[in-house]
Formats: sequence, C-alpha cells, structure tokens
Amino acid sequence: MRNLFFLLFLITSSFTFAQNVDLSSVDEFFKITYKLKNGEEISDNDWNNFEKSKAYAIFTNKYIIDIAKLSIRNVFGSCNINIDNSNNLLKTLVLANYEEINYNYSSLKTFRDNYDFESLIYNAKSRLQSFLMCELDSSVEWKPVYFLFLSKDGQDRDSAIVIDLNLIYKMTEEERINFLAHEFFHVYRAHFEHHEFNYANDINFVIDMIANEGIADQIDKYMGYDQYFSNFGKSKELASEFKQLYNNAPKDIEYLQTTIAQYAANQIDKDTCIDRLIGIYKYNGHALGFYISNQIIKAGLRDEMIKEFHNPYEFFRLYSLTLPKDEKSSLNDDFLLFLKAETELYY
Ligand SMILES: [Zn+2]
Repeated sequence: MRNLFFLLFLITSSFTFAQNVDLSSVDEFFKITYKLKNGEEISDNDWNNFEKSKAYAIFTNKYIIDIAKLSIRNVFGSCNINIDNSNNLLKTLVLANYEEINYNYSSLKTFRDNYDFESLIYNAKSRLQSFLMCELDSSVEWKPVYFLFLSKDGQDRDSAIVIDLNLIYKMTEEERINFLAHEFFHVYRAHFEHHEFNYANDINFVIDMIANEGIADQIDKYMGYDQYFSNFGKSKELASEFKQLYNNAPKDIEYLQTTIAQYAANQIDKDTCIDRLIGIYKYNGHALGFYISNQIIKAGLRDEMIKEFHNPYEFFRLYSLTLPKDEKSSLNDDFLLFLKAETELYY
C-alpha cells in the first residue's frame, strides 16, 4: 500500500512538472551550420525550416532573423561578410555568441544530445518554490521552454520561455536552475498580477515591470551584478551598462517619482510623463527594480516583499520605508498616494 502510494505520488508529481521542451531551433541551427562548415550550400528550404522552427518563429522578427542569418554565414561559412556592428549591441552580441558556439561546436552538440532538460525544469520550479516560501499554486499554467542560439539571453514570451542554449551550456547547474527559476517567476507572477492595471497605460506598465524584474533578479542575481556578470562570460558591454544603470538607480527612481507626482498634480501631461519615463526605463527596468529590492532586503523587509510579490504598490511602499525622512519624503508620498489610488481597485 505504501509503495502504491509512493508510486502514485511519483506519477502525479511528474505530471505536475511535465513540461514541453523544444529544441527544434537548436537542431535547425546545427543542420545549417554543419553544412556551412563543410562548404555545402544552404537551400531556401533549409533557411525556411530554420526561420519556422519554434523558438526563432516566436522570438525573432525580420530584423533579428536577418542578423542571425548574416552572423551564421559570417562565422560558419567560408566567405567573410563584413558586418557593420558599430552602435548595434544586438549584432555585437549575436556575432560574439556564434563565434563562441563555433569554438565549442562539438561539445555543444553533445550537450544538446545528453543534457537532462526535464530535470532542469523540475529543479527550477523547486527553486522558485523555496524562493517564494510557499507551495506553488497548482492552477498556474506553466509555459513550454524553447531553446535557440541567438544572443546569450533568455526571455519570457507570451507562448513560451525562450533561452539561448549556449547561455545554459556556459553556466554551472546552479546558475541554470536560478536562471530558469527567474523566468518561471514571471510566468507564476502573471497568474496573480492584474493585467488590466498593467496594460492600461505605459505608466502602469513601467511601474509594474520594475517591481516584477526587481524581485525576479533576487532569484539569480542576488550576489550582485559584479559577480553575476563575471560568472559565465556575459558580454562586457552589457555588464558595464547594467552596472552604470544600477549606480544611477537612486537618482533615476527619484526622477521617476517626481515625474509621476508631477503628472498626478496635472503639472505635465501623460505624453510628457511617458517620454520622461522612457528616458530612464532601460532593459525592462531591471537595474531600478534590483536596486529597490536590495534596499528592501537590507532593511529586513524581504518577507513582506515576497508575500506581495505581485503588487507593485507594495514594492514601492516597502522601498519608501527604507528612505530617510527628509524633504524628499513628501515627493515620495505624493507618488505613493497616486499609485495607491491607481492600484486600489485591483489589489
Ligand atoms: Zn526577468
């Protein structure tokens, strides 16, 4: 009886965590690059299959897929096409990633064939569960995870989480679990957050995304940007940009609060407000959110932040508790009053 119970437990738990992993984009990439490395021609059909494979289809547009194709030809083909990547971070990142993939080509192929992707997904969910300090709600619908080769990055998209396989390859197992748990946090939070509020306008969207990424970064970047970016060969350009954004965060958050308080007081119109927010909202507000969540944790308010992980008002309210009471407080109060009024309906 006990054994049967255990067996049933195993079956149900594997069902709960059963997840769709798709590697078709990785496989199409290998097909094309293998041919190019052997001096073979790539047919229109090959490129078609490449573009239509699951991860490339949902992750790229014409502009991005052209960068990928040109970079593939450049790195794996015999003819060197000159890619002008001045002032284009994406081109730089894709090209650098593909050069690395070429260098580790056969080990990457072995990794693709042997790595236990299902276990990674299971462990990432366990990690999220311990981060949130509660049982994961069983009604949450998890997204499939699609892999590709593009730039060393991963993102939560509408229909799937899309991750660069070379990024995962370069990481330690612990980093992989944390990375995917970060993406799963977004999926999990989406179940509880209020889309009506978040998508009502760009101001709400920015505020919510800063809270969203700020908490998510505590899963995989809790050791700080310095260590995080030096760990698995992330791009130096990206690292220095993130660090600079982090150093500017206190000022930028103050600017965000001033701007929104001015908008709330009808001193500026909505378009001006949004234009100003766009000026400081970079990379989904990661650095701003991460700075805020670090201050909240330093102030001993981590548990409160985790309890209300879906509520942007609580995120900024907890941050306000970490600020010194000085002349700037009233500005912060105006911002919070506005945010409370805007969110009251939903949270
Ligand atoms: Zn994120």
